[in-house]
Amino acid sequence: TQFSDLGLNKHLLNTLKGLGYETPTPIQAQAIPTVLDGHDVLGLAQTGTGKTAAFGLPMVDHLMHKQERPAPKNIRALVLAPTRELVNQIATNLRAYVKGTPLKIGSVVGGASINVQVKNLTRGTDILVATPGRLLDLVERRAVFLDHATFLVLDEADQMLDLGFIVPLRKIAKLVGDKRQTMLFSATMPKQIEDLSSTYLKDPKRVEV
Ligand code: AMP
Repeated sequence: TQFSDLGLNKHLLNTLKGLGYETPTPIQAQAIPTVLDGHDVLGLAQTGTGKTAAFGLPMVDHLMHKQERPAPKNIRALVLAPTRELVNQIATNLRAYVKGTPLKIGSVVGGASINVQVKNLTRGTDILVATPGRLLDLVERRAVFLDHATFLVLDEADQMLDLGFIVPLRKIAKLVGDKRQTMLFSATMPKQIEDLSSTYLKDPKRVEV
């Protein structure tokens, strides 16, 4: 399989060439066309398998096509991850994927200045990458609104549950609303993840590597 077989737009294919990505990883080959087709995805995959691009590229493709910018503080897509390191890593990758487009990537994590984050959010964000606790703080301060988001990604969902993020996760998923595409990735698939999936994903396609 080649990237050009997966349905991504030409601009993104060029971006990938520039990044030196030659062939899609197995999770990318499975997830990219599935997400482009509008399906929810339940992915069983570890870090290092290329899962950031697996959810990030089709999401960027969609957001590039529908170009209306929401009012400031309204994000268009949300990626939740368990740790500051992972949030920063995902945001760095997404910034590389949106290069040459008007899309803006933001990130918010606990332990960093909330005032700086509040200010950055007023400048407009298309895709926000966040840890759940800090995001909820920002939502409660009305620094960010989630109800226009059309994508929700839960990355390393098993780790988020282990870290006790279930309550913020439930609150956040409710705020994002129903008109969305949801992708959940986890390295393991215990019963709690199956439950989370059946609550928040609609008829998901399973991908695993
Ligand atoms: P991830 O599993 O998403 O953390 O990705 C692991 C690393 O592989 C990241 O540094 C990506 O930039 C890189 N990567 C992802 N997909 C590909 C690909 N198809 N070809 C080459 N490198 C890739």
